[in-house]
Amino acid sequence: MPLAEKSLIEGIRRSARQPGGSVRLGIGDDCAVLRPPKGHQILVTTDYTLENIHFRRSWHAPEIVGRRCLTRGLSDIAAMGGKPLAAFLSLALPADLPQRWVDQFMRGLLGLARECNVPLAGGDTAQSLEGILADIIVLGSAPNGKALVRSGAKPGDRIYVSGELGGGTAALKEFLAGRKPRPQDYPRHFHPVPRLKLGEFLRVRGIATALIDLSDGLSTDLGHICEESQVGAEILADQIPRARVGRKRDPIDLKLALHGGEDYELLFTAPARKHVPGSVAGVAITPIGRITPDKRTLLRTSKRVEALEPQGWEHFRS
Ligand code: ADP
Ligand code: MG
Repeated sequence: MPLAEKSLIEGIRRSARQPGGSVRLGIGDDCAVLRPPKGHQILVTTDYTLENIHFRRSWHAPEIVGRRCLTRGLSDIAAMGGKPLAAFLSLALPADLPQRWVDQFMRGLLGLARECNVPLAGGDTAQSLEGILADIIVLGSAPNGKALVRSGAKPGDRIYVSGELGGGTAALKEFLAGRKPRPQDYPRHFHPVPRLKLGEFLRVRGIATALIDLSDGLSTDLGHICEESQVGAEILADQIPRARVGRKRDPIDLKLALHGGEDYELLFTAPARKHVPGSVAGVAITPIGRITPDKRTLLRTSKRVEALEPQGWEHFRS
């Protein structure tokens, strides 16, 4: 059974970082008080992590669930070229959940918070009738009018992606096949890293015309950029950096790299004349195609050109 609400919050408060920086007042009052940097706008994102939708207790250690939970929020801030200011966590926990699970979940979440220098500044705690529900809210900031949105891609822009794709979903495929993937063989699934430094680099250097994080899969998220920017795209199948996973570090199927979700890499467009480095903060940047004027999304293989339909993750799609 988890500790009663009051002592549970006390525990979280003790292990969360003390306020500082933009957080003038953190956990313990009715509201947190933040002081955003001068001349900046506030970015806000919220993401659910739900038992049996986003994780399974029999598959995922609690630390990993906590880390993945905060990654979702921080990756959205990275995808705007922002800097995270503070995180908030709303938890609903079933009465029969061991307190150890909560402690380890918080250890994973706060470990990543510390790595990224983001204080946990508040939240809510309640009992759920069934299953664990965690809603992460992250506030960030970007200089006035400078946040990188999805709608700025122009025909002729090059399309780039960070890291490798498909590793997030490859581990799920293993679980579904009844195998037990080892965390060290599937780092992007078990130990995701939000690309905050890259997002900020792209904003500060004025490189990206549009930016999104890959949470639902390349085909789906590229579709979002194209829709918001009113353009099309052509992707070169041979150029897609496919994740190397498993004991043998084999590159995964192209299909997983194209449609798999939860990689938390960044996808961006930049004018063809802009110099884009081959890596930023230790993360490889790969050109994978270009933006076209005619609103279709195409995949060019060595044999032919085909339509690239969004086949990534979408809730309620049957
Ligand atoms: P209130 O009833 O005023 O909403 P709560 O008793 O719910 O206050 O929360 C007390 C304090 O603890 C608040 O500062 C709140 O932000 C914080 N808090 C509650 N639950 C969590 C949580 N899961 N994670 C982080 N902070 C929390
Ligand atoms: Mg409350």
